[in-house]
Amino acid sequence: MSLTPFKLLRPQTLDDAVAYLAKHAANLRVLAGGTDLIPSMRQKLFEPEYVLDVRHIAELNGIRERQGSGVEIGALTSLAAIEHSELLCRRYSVLAEAAATVASPVIRNMGTIGGNICLDTRCLWYNQSLTWRKGCGFCIKKDGDLCHVAPGGSKCWAAFSGDTPAALLCLNAEVDVAGPKGSRRIPLREFYTGIGDNYRMLQPDELLTRIFLPESSADYSGVYRKLRIRGSIDYPLAGVAVVMKRSNGHIVDARVAITAVNPAPLLVKGASDAMNGKPLTEELAETVGTLAAKTAKPLTTSALTPEYRREMIRVFTKRAVLAAASR
Ligand SMILES: Cc1cc2nc3c(=O)[nH]c(=O)nc-3n(C[C@H](O)[C@H](O)[C@H](O)COP(=O)(O)OP(=O)(O)OC[C@H]3O[C@@H](n4cnc5c(N)ncnc54)[C@H](O)[C@@H]3O)c2cc1C
Ligand code: SF4
Repeated sequence: MSLTPFKLLRPQTLDDAVAYLAKHAANLRVLAGGTDLIPSMRQKLFEPEYVLDVRHIAELNGIRERQGSGVEIGALTSLAAIEHSELLCRRYSVLAEAAATVASPVIRNMGTIGGNICLDTRCLWYNQSLTWRKGCGFCIKKDGDLCHVAPGGSKCWAAFSGDTPAALLCLNAEVDVAGPKGSRRIPLREFYTGIGDNYRMLQPDELLTRIFLPESSADYSGVYRKLRIRGSIDYPLAGVAVVMKRSNGHIVDARVAITAVNPAPLLVKGASDAMNGKPLTEELAETVGTLAAKTAKPLTTSALTPEYRREMIRVFTKRAVLAAASR
């Protein structure tokens, strides 16, 4: 599948990138590692006139400890750098663990954390060639007006299928977004809309620049578990992140987030209240697993049945809670 011709823009600074966004946003896509964007462009899911290659903006790369106030990660930092960061493995281990499960080593060398957060939602009826999609009459997310997954409805349910956002939600991460109107910071939990074909709170002329991990989320024990078909290289079909702090045998604070089973990655409501202040028991882990399964609304957007994926959210959550307590 060939690429439709486009004009490549290569800013060296954030200011230059924002200037390009101001001028061409209406017909432009941002390119970071390109591991998701390029295959999608080959499938004609995007045919932008301009591609803004932000890889050469040095100020958006790297992991920096901010004395007493957590860690700042540039959006262009590779997933491999996150996976192998001594600082993140020691203080925010759930993020390093989630990054290490993305795709394969080669893709983690190219793929960035910003691209993982901004990753397009996925669906078996959408991530296909133009010929394939045309044969099915297209769908709401691209070129059509019906949904094959929930016929009769007007909403797109394509699943958000990135791994690291579940970990980042557990860490109460915030993101900086820059555009012609300036820069703004938003909690990651407010970044996703829950709508498959308009899944992120990002204007066409905006760029995600940095991720912030607060000091208050450091030093939790963390676990990430994911369901995928090919263990060596695959998107999650269900993913669970858990962070936990314990003292004197009791849980002081814990959070659980899920991914790949809804149009947005989500914190599991009620999980923290169910765990905080309690000793960890198998029964409690089971209860949290049930809460996570209730939050999961998998549909036939992805391989494996929705029932199985929801059940695996329950099973993985229980296992991840028990594993986090034993670290
Ligand atoms: C075979 C295969 C397996 C994969 N498996 C997984 C997996 O297991 N888990 C997983 O999470 N992902 C997986 N991916 C998807 C992808 O590799 C990763 O999500 C990666 O982190 C994407 O980052 P990138 O820098 O390559 O993004 P790109 O492809 O460059 O961009 C992805 C999207 O985000 C936008 N974007 C990128 N950076 C920014 C920014 N700074 N600001 C605004 N918008 C931006 C782009 O415009 C595009 O829409 C897989 C991909 C392939 C090809
Ligand atoms: S959920 Fe429906 S509208 Fe969305 S991509 Fe899939 S088939 Fe298309």
